[in-house]
Amino acid sequence: MKTVYLDHNATCPVFPEVVEAMLPYYGQHFGNASSVHVFGQEARRAVEDSRDKIAALLNARPEELFFTSGGTESDNLAIKGFFAANKDKGKHIITSSIEHPAVLEVCRFIEKNGYSATYLPVNSLGVINPAELERAVTKDTSIISVMYANNETGSIQPVEEMAQFAKSKNIVFHTDAVQAVGKLPIDLNKTAVDMLSASAHKFYGPKGIGFVYIRKGTKIECIQHGGHHERNIRPGTENVPGIVGMAKALEISVGAMKKDGERVLKLRDMLWEGIKAKIDHVFLNGHAEKRTNNTLNVSFQYIESESIILNLDLKGIAVSGGSACASGSAEPSHVLGAMGVDPACAQGAIRFSLGKGNSKEDIEYVLEVLPPIIKKLRAMSPIYTKSSGK
Ligand code: PLP
Repeated sequence: MKTVYLDHNATCPVFPEVVEAMLPYYGQHFGNASSVHVFGQEARRAVEDSRDKIAALLNARPEELFFTSGGTESDNLAIKGFFAANKDKGKHIITSSIEHPAVLEVCRFIEKNGYSATYLPVNSLGVINPAELERAVTKDTSIISVMYANNETGSIQPVEEMAQFAKSKNIVFHTDAVQAVGKLPIDLNKTAVDMLSASAHKFYGPKGIGFVYIRKGTKIECIQHGGHHERNIRPGTENVPGIVGMAKALEISVGAMKKDGERVLKLRDMLWEGIKAKIDHVFLNGHAEKRTNNTLNVSFQYIESESIILNLDLKGIAVSGGSACASGSAEPSHVLGAMGVDPACAQGAIRFSLGKGNSKEDIEYVLEVLPPIIKKLRAMSPIYTKSSGK
């Protein structure tokens, strides 16, 4: 059976060149980067070369990058580590209502521990109004954390404008850029962002490895305790193959960003145009233009996303409803909820997230398979027959 993977915001396949770059560090060069002998030295060199490479690709200084186990850990470290190191500063964080749980749950956790949090609203396109941020600041605000691009809708946030504002108020600005790194141009030397989280598996690198960028001068403390790795900020033996693979994946993604981005955008728009032409009662969730090139979130009215996902899966097509991390839960998407999408429509939302491996034939296949599935499910839906007068 033909298979079509359209769930790249959940995770991506690893580039073959990345696997190739990683393999020697499982075999021949297996050393612990903290060991003094030659095996350790080789591993250390690989770690530091990778740090240099990533820093150059993002225009950061190598010493501003700290390797972690991925996006979730980077977000935890940025926010909790900031508060741990800045006890003399205000205890208020501003974030948004559409963050990934890796930020939302950190904020809820710190709220139970003597801190306060404000969750900024978004408009119907899933975008924050920077004026809301200005209104939310109090004399106690010491950190702002707003995501770069949303994982469910792809909507891109006015991060630079908000970071500039934060800087003018002497407030530290963190962004969860897990869905942006490798897809959107990022120049850490030119931005007012102080901390940024990234995860390799979202840009065709291995799972379980990521980094957090912490601008020189931003005070941060470790949140896990152990050895002196990563300049006392993140203890634990470095994941050498993962770090090497991440650097290689970023190099390829950044190098091909423009070309791949344009190609994927064409396919995404072909999919949306095809859906609109072939299926009625559908609408786009997210910003029409200002969103990541690969993301298309569509509500199919009168039916539930779970049935669509399962039916597409039977035809070899992989998509998701809401965020990958929240899948398995029947909860409606908090992102679509914050955008004011009617809960009945939010329940029929499907996220198609395209990637480098997709072709025109893939999209044609989806456009052939999807309409009869929707038709069949709607025929079984009592709300469809009632509401649409069919
Ligand atoms: N932040 C965002 C925006 C994400 O999309 C994800 C993963 O889906 C994460 C954080 C978590 O990253 P990781 O899977 O590397 O922990």
